[in-house]
Amino acid sequence: VGTVAVRTGGPQAPISADVVIVGGGPAGSTAALYAARADLQVVVVDRGLDAGALGQTGIVANFPGLPPMPGPEIVRALRQQAERFGARFLTGQALGLQPREGGFSVLTSLGELRARGVIAATGATGRAPAVPGEAELLGRGVSSCATCDGPFFRGRRVAVVGRTEEAAEEALLLAHLAEAVELVVPGDLPVGPHWQALVVHPRVRPHPRHSLKAILGDGAGVRAVRLRGPGGERELPVHGVFLYLQGRRPVTDWLQPVLAPGPDGCLAVGPGYGTAVPGVFAVGDVLCTEVKQAVIAAAQGAEAAIQAERWLRGRSGPRPDWR
Ligand SMILES: Cc1cc2nc3c(=O)[nH]c(=O)nc-3n(C[C@H](O)[C@H](O)[C@H](O)COP(=O)(O)OP(=O)(O)OC[C@H]3O[C@@H](n4cnc5c(N)ncnc54)[C@H](O)[C@@H]3O)c2cc1C
Repeated sequence: VGTVAVRTGGPQAPISADVVIVGGGPAGSTAALYAARADLQVVVVDRGLDAGALGQTGIVANFPGLPPMPGPEIVRALRQQAERFGARFLTGQALGLQPREGGFSVLTSLGELRARGVIAATGATGRAPAVPGEAELLGRGVSSCATCDGPFFRGRRVAVVGRTEEAAEEALLLAHLAEAVELVVPGDLPVGPHWQALVVHPRVRPHPRHSLKAILGDGAGVRAVRLRGPGGERELPVHGVFLYLQGRRPVTDWLQPVLAPGPDGCLAVGPGYGTAVPGVFAVGDVLCTEVKQAVIAAAQGAEAAIQAERWLRGRSGPRPDWR
């Protein structure tokens, strides 16, 4: 990608565009593609090719139309496609957002970016790897997305660690695919329909009041998990470990106080991904959408760019001809 790393240090002249997109993952890059093809001047500011969720993903096997390939390669291809239509990518970090006459200033590590419209596509951050073996085996058996990686463990043994609703739903999906699911629950088993279905599932073995102490493996992948429970420590042989220990948090700090997330950390958007501030749109994992997948983030980016173009050029919303 012909990404421009603008020199830092010292004041820079503001860069102006029709739309500034913050975040160049699948959501932001696809928004850039659609906005640039609509003949808008587009600047994307992004922290780096491998700074986002897709950019940090190992092999992605479910992005439509592409063979299994590393996440950063998909991000690179999306950015290159947008660049071919004139979108400009800058490597930097958004630090703040300010309204100004006729639009907004996005304050970044590179200086000020001015635009009439802003699309927030900064994704979400996860917890730092904390369990011994987790960082080393991430992408080689350690995952936090059953939709993404579950099919790699068809007919094999996996562990699911967590006690959120997401953990329960993901464990149910894995129970269809895997030979056995070791359900490691730090604390008592939660109540709720998913959890009731799990505890009676023939392929699920619940381990309430157990914590994950280590993930064991080597170059070939995960071999076992070490748990600590009321009876002491023990090892369970598994090939995959799905961690749902702490939810991912949307990256919204740079939007505040112009746009404040709710108490759950989530931004609210209306139809067309418009936020409460006219001219500011938000797409991808920065929203707390239930299903977090690259293709869904990309689709949201496409729609937000279409709506932003309509808004910028003073046209009304879509009028489908099939009504
Ligand atoms: C471990 C893992 C595996 C996954 N596997 C799959 C899979 O196999 N298939 C699938 O479809 N989905 C998968 N996903 C989900 C998918 O990666 C996300 O749903 C998707 O990447 C969301 O796209 P996004 O553009 O909203 O966010 P991201 O991909 O996270 O991109 C956000 C971008 O914003 C940038 N950014 C953040 N803050 C700032 C800032 N302040 N200033 C400038 N730039 C900023 C980051 O650098 C990043 O490039 C996986 C996710 C994880 C965590």
